[in-house]
Amino acid sequence: MIGVIGLGFVGLSTAVGFAIKGVRVKAFDIDPERSVLIRAGRTPFYEPGLEENLVAAVHGELTITESLAEAVAGCEAIFYCVGTPCGDGGQADLTYVKAALKDTLAHDDGVFKVLVIKSTVPPGTTETILRPFIEGLGYNVGEHIGLANNPEFLREGHAWEDFFNPDRVVIGTADPRSADILRRLYEPFGAPVHDVTLNTGEFIKYLSNTLLATLISYSNEMSQVAWTIGDIEIARAFKILHQDKRWFGAPAGMSSYAYPGAGFGGYCLPKDTEALYRASEAAGYRPELIGEVLKVNERTKQFVADRIGAAADGGCVGILGLSFKPGSDDVRQSPAVDIIRRLIDKGSGRILAYDPMAMDDFERMYDLPIDYASSAEQVLAEADTVALLTAWPEFRDNDLIRTDPKVMDFRYCLAGAHPQASPPRSAAFQAEELTGGVEETRTL
Ligand code: NAD
Repeated sequence: MIGVIGLGFVGLSTAVGFAIKGVRVKAFDIDPERSVLIRAGRTPFYEPGLEENLVAAVHGELTITESLAEAVAGCEAIFYCVGTPCGDGGQADLTYVKAALKDTLAHDDGVFKVLVIKSTVPPGTTETILRPFIEGLGYNVGEHIGLANNPEFLREGHAWEDFFNPDRVVIGTADPRSADILRRLYEPFGAPVHDVTLNTGEFIKYLSNTLLATLISYSNEMSQVAWTIGDIEIARAFKILHQDKRWFGAPAGMSSYAYPGAGFGGYCLPKDTEALYRASEAAGYRPELIGEVLKVNERTKQFVADRIGAAADGGCVGILGLSFKPGSDDVRQSPAVDIIRRLIDKGSGRILAYDPMAMDDFERMYDLPIDYASSAEQVLAEADTVALLTAWPEFRDNDLIRTDPKVMDFRYCLAGAHPQASPPRSAAFQAEELTGGVEETRTL
């Protein structure tokens, strides 16, 4: 049996969805008029498919309760689906979430229950704000009470379809008992269930929404670039863009561009991005997002160089990968060049580099004071810290590289090997130190 608190788009879809899957659901909304309407089988907003299923649910496993106490009594999981609006300073306002949690704990019935934050809250919220809040009320998380987040990815207008047929379920937990309960509840939905840390659970939701927001602003900015330059068929241009086979899951499809690395490079992306920025600026419109894209690329290389420098601490630095991407020996504007230059400028120790294909070109083109190895194994044997900068398959598939803790995987391609999570906040290496000294090498 589960409880659902808050019956907006997310809460109502959740309550009806679980009820239709045969779970006993008790749901509560603080707005009595809304509750009366829902109890009568009517949705307070239009969502295709939801009302028909609500009618079936209220005649079956779903009860809309008169009080929060009734909704949470005897449940093993409570889903909080209340609003998290924008606070005065732009931060997520947690007032409704905290009020609902406090009310729940005031009606403790002694049954272990997992409190599931389904509302969207920024990474770090459950661990650093809500957990202390709950513990401050006298509950030990993992012992008396479970705590989890379970971000919802539904789209308004498709809320029912998206909730009922999810493409993935994300469960952020701090204790195994909560993870087990949620995994079991979601089993009937047949989607992959990802059991991750609390912060990861929250981050995934923002990873998705900020990407979507960025794509929209990118498209809008590019339409303004086009309009300013003139005589560009804007709608046609975008529709032709959508014919790129990389949108449709071609090898090295679009998902490989929405993936972190050490910065973009190669012959085209750096020069073309800069050239369009200049052309638009000259025509009278400065495209800020495109300008930031170039700046972020510079900052990414600085971030990587700072992390290598901090880890190596004057010792020998190994570099695995010199070409700008695997499967190519092109070293023009490869991030490795800038990263190595930045390390040298900072007075690093010996640098020992290896690339399966691009070493000769790199040496000829850049004439840097570094050594070249004859194999990845030599780099592992001689370097104190190793930075993987190009995701060559022979690096990804090399067990020595995958399991050596001194390898820093800046292509995030050694999944399942040693964890590459950031250090805890208390660690000496702080984000401010990383970005504090970054120079803007471009004046856009
Ligand atoms: P909503 O505003 O439509 O619904 C929230 C409901 O919670 C309201 O009906 C309100 O009366 C009720 N409520 C507030 N405090 C309560 C309390 N103490 N007890 C019981 N009920 C209470 O919100 P929504 O669109 O369903 O979004 C809920 C959360 O999910 C937000 O954090 C939102 O960001 C997130 N989210 C929304 C969507 C979406 O498409 N709308 C998608 C994914 C995630």
